[in-house]
Amino acid sequence: MKKLLLIVAGVLFMTVCLAQNNLPKIIILATGGTIAGTGASADRAAYTAGELPVGDLIAAVPGIDKVARISGEQIANVGSQNMSVEIWIKLNKRINEIFKNKLADGIVITHGTDTQEETAYFLNLTVRYDNPVVLTGSMRPSTAISADGPKNLYDAVTVAASPYSKGRGVLLTFNESIFDGRDAVKTSTTKVNGFAAPNGAPLGQVYDGRVIYYLKAARKANKETPFDITGLATLPKVAVVELFADAPGIGVDAYANGGFDGIVTAGLGNGNLNDANTEAVIRAIKKGIAVCRASRVPTGRVTQFDETDDDKLGTIVSDDLNPQKARILLMLGLTKTKDRKKLQEFFFQY
Ligand code: GLU
Repeated sequence: MKKLLLIVAGVLFMTVCLAQNNLPKIIILATGGTIAGTGASADRAAYTAGELPVGDLIAAVPGIDKVARISGEQIANVGSQNMSVEIWIKLNKRINEIFKNKLADGIVITHGTDTQEETAYFLNLTVRYDNPVVLTGSMRPSTAISADGPKNLYDAVTVAASPYSKGRGVLLTFNESIFDGRDAVKTSTTKVNGFAAPNGAPLGQVYDGRVIYYLKAARKANKETPFDITGLATLPKVAVVELFADAPGIGVDAYANGGFDGIVTAGLGNGNLNDANTEAVIRAIKKGIAVCRASRVPTGRVTQFDETDDDKLGTIVSDDLNPQKARILLMLGLTKTKDRKKLQEFFFQY
């Protein structure tokens, strides 16, 4: 009898192990943010971002080991207001390395929400593999009542482990919505429903351990990207300058004289510049600096040749990218060319 019980237990153990081995392998690359933040008590909003190590993040998610075989790596541990080109390059390098060496089927990146949309778009344009890469984070720190981090992490692993997520570019999963990394924008400073796609819609949903897609991103990314930053230690310097009524051209002049390669204007309405900034932009372009007109308006495109003659001024337009995303594309575009027409083409393609 004892022998029989031992055999049954052994078979059960082997079955569980085999089932585990059949699960997709997901690596979590942790960078910090609120999801790794801790506060003094559960009922206070005050906290410090980027405190918990990746092992603690994974341990806080019940059942995650039934979705995928998980391992974690700490790439950085910062509040994402301190995200940097240096960390982006490190992330890009590690992701391409993981997929090249077939170390994982998919990757989840935990990240602060402040600049998550920028990292998502940057990786969308620079990861050269079709395997799923999914960013997520949280709006509430790990110590808060009803912390949203564990659920978002569970969902992100579920999305990264899904065969349906392959070939969709870099994704951002938040509060059960799945966004294209290009379109996702942080739209609330504090609410749990922190992200939206203001010029489009979520691509799909993750709910109760299931992934459903409704849309496919139209713009090219990943395998089809022309941007290869392998071997680059840094990127061209691009700044964003926001306009307002009666804005002087000081901001544009300061960056133009401060060694920047490109400037994105967060302009008025359809990317409009007032007279003072038009003059400053003309001065910047004369110095060989690329200038892209984006808008401070939260939705819509910036179109050519409406109130501004871009050919005459020498500017390009951001299409429907917000200023911070236009900055990413201009930085990457400038690694390939300084030609205004070619830079403009990137904005209509990516
Ligand atoms: N500012 C912090 C960050 O972006 C906290 C915001 C968050 O993660 O929700 O990392």
